[in-house]
Amino acid sequence: RELPNLAAQASWRREMAKQNQSLGRRTNLSIKEQRESLPVYKFRDKFLEAIKVNQLLVVVGETGSGKTTQLTQYLAEAGFANKGMIGCTQPRRVAAISVAKRVAEEVGCQVGEEVGYNVRFDDTSSPATRIKYMTDGMLQREILIDPLVSRYSVIMLDEAHERTVATDVLFGLLLKTIKKRSDLKIIITSATLDAEKFSSFFKNCPIFMIPGRTYPVEINFAKDPVSDYVEECLNTIQEIHLTQPPGDILVFLTGQEEIDTSSEILHERMKKLPANVPELIILPVYAALPSEMQSLIFDPAPPGKRKVVLATNIAETSITIDHIYYVIDSGFVKQNVYDHKLGMDKLIVTPISQASAKQRAGRAGRTGPGKCFRLYTEAAYQTEMLPTSIPEIQRQNLSMTILMLKAMGIEDVLGFPFMDPPARDNMLASLEELYQLAALDDEGLLTKHGRDMTQFPIETPSLSKALLASSEPNFGCSDEMLTIIAMVSEAQNVFHRPREKQKQADEKKVKFHDQNGDHLTLLNVYRGWRESNSSRAWCFENFIQFRVMKRAEDIRNQLIRIMKRLRRAIVSCGMRTDLVREALCAGMFRNAARRERDTQGQGKHYKTVMESTVVYMHPSSALFGKSPEYVVYHTLMMTDKEWMNVATTIDPKWLREAAPTLYKIVTGNEMSKRKKTERIAPLHNKFEGPDDWRLSAQRKQGR
Ligand code: ADP
Ligand code: MG
Repeated sequence: RELPNLAAQASWRREMAKQNQSLGRRTNLSIKEQRESLPVYKFRDKFLEAIKVNQLLVVVGETGSGKTTQLTQYLAEAGFANKGMIGCTQPRRVAAISVAKRVAEEVGCQVGEEVGYNVRFDDTSSPATRIKYMTDGMLQREILIDPLVSRYSVIMLDEAHERTVATDVLFGLLLKTIKKRSDLKIIITSATLDAEKFSSFFKNCPIFMIPGRTYPVEINFAKDPVSDYVEECLNTIQEIHLTQPPGDILVFLTGQEEIDTSSEILHERMKKLPANVPELIILPVYAALPSEMQSLIFDPAPPGKRKVVLATNIAETSITIDHIYYVIDSGFVKQNVYDHKLGMDKLIVTPISQASAKQRAGRAGRTGPGKCFRLYTEAAYQTEMLPTSIPEIQRQNLSMTILMLKAMGIEDVLGFPFMDPPARDNMLASLEELYQLAALDDEGLLTKHGRDMTQFPIETPSLSKALLASSEPNFGCSDEMLTIIAMVSEAQNVFHRPREKQKQADEKKVKFHDQNGDHLTLLNVYRGWRESNSSRAWCFENFIQFRVMKRAEDIRNQLIRIMKRLRRAIVSCGMRTDLVREALCAGMFRNAARRERDTQGQGKHYKTVMESTVVYMHPSSALFGKSPEYVVYHTLMMTDKEWMNVATTIDPKWLREAAPTLYKIVTGNEMSKRKKTERIAPLHNKFEGPDDWRLSAQRKQGR
């Protein structure tokens, strides 16, 4: 591509400078002026009136209109926080933290005083807290302990259009709560126009509209299908930077790795441009980004410079970045999809919905007329994209959710008032899994074991189960298991692998490898780090992410506190790490795979034991190239192939011991009339297959 000529450059710079002046003026506004400039401000009194006379209220307004940061403050200012807290849920932890910080600044306090947040493994709220931002998952946990949410006077279910599982579950739970608490106010906010649906679910409550202030956005579709959207993104960024008038760029990509790699490549490309090209400030945004980095994205670009923000879906509605004039939309999102037939969660990159595409484009029209570059054809938009996204509850493993509902005393989970009920088969599969984990008894009722499992803020019941098992005398390795669970809980790669030093990084990594796989490798890393007195230098030297280690340590300490409360032993198995692997099986027996015989000299692949899905060992695994016969894996990730993520060698005997029988659930007519609960009965045909241990399990079951 040719660079624009110098005259164009000069006018470009002038325009840039002009804009930055006005931008500077805007950002010099006092906090009070900033607050009063938001669209929601004009509706402050009307909103307060509406919430005084209604118990339930749906609030709809464009992203950036001030719902999340302002409504809570209006409520507090009007005295709603005098008798209880104002709680505001967010689907994403980053949003909860960033919004709490912003509101604390506006209120003029430290985070943790009047304004606080509570996200998994990180609670900053205190007795002084009046406005509390939290993830929807944390409120769900609170309801487990206190079904009346008696500490709150108002609950705002924010970003309801995101339709996360936890928000959907809260819909149903809070509907029950308000029957017993006439003083509790519930606000459901949404950035999109599915308000009617929310209103009809919440007893036809009124809808409060905040008219947006938006400018037209010019939409540019790709003329031909794009084969590599990352490459195309990078080209488009460069082209905008070199040819388009001033204004920041927001780019939607799918995940952390993609964003980090793109940033690096972009940095390199920018270095090669002539010195007279204005600087491009490159900022990544994704959930796992440390919060001190996150606040950078809100800073306006300094005079004469342009900012490009490379973001995941998080910037679609959860956080608002001002002064965006250009949006580049890859058309993809990374989603966790649970396939109950395959019995696995798949993290897949899939096309977004048309609603998402519109929302993304809209981000360019908040400060002035903008442009959106869609890296897909108009035909793809029409034919390959669904009108709206499928709610998460219909595409996720529900085991944890169902376990929580059971713990809240909701026995008939199939009859729970979901706004969009999940597939029945999916719920039955989860009930079956919980039964196998001994969290439910054969009447489908929660066991003591199951209740203990709900105490841990761990993502899956199978991991909680492995942790509980590890504290029992026959395994005696809870000290190790705590470390492993803390290390996998952040789902972030602890191994740092910079592009220019991959070889050195890989050499260091191999030193931690355990011959039995990745769980024990992670244990080795943690032990090594602790032996270095949790040193940062050690991390640097070994290509380990210090930040991830600190968080793992923090998570580990929190899990220890819960273990102590439950009077569970914390014991080490010393060198006998086979016990750790066996205890892992006690929870993760469903995530087992067996190596297939090598066909036609092709790469060895595995098949999952339960569903016979073809899966592969990830090249980053300590087991890559070793190909043990049986493994359990932490997750399956589908990108170009179905990869097993964090795998460990096992003895198949352990699977049988962990789950000697697999059962189906009988409901409806076959159910006893006395109790309206799910009953679980043996399912005999689950053990089909030629392998001896499966046959013996079948025989054992038949007996
Ligand atoms: P909504 O919830 O309606 O999308 P918000 O209340 O989140 O709107 O945002 C209102 C304004 O506050 C936006 O202009 C946004 O840029 C600003 N804002 C929100 N969070 C932060 C933050 N952490 N730092 C600086 N500004 C922020
Ligand atoms: Mg918001």
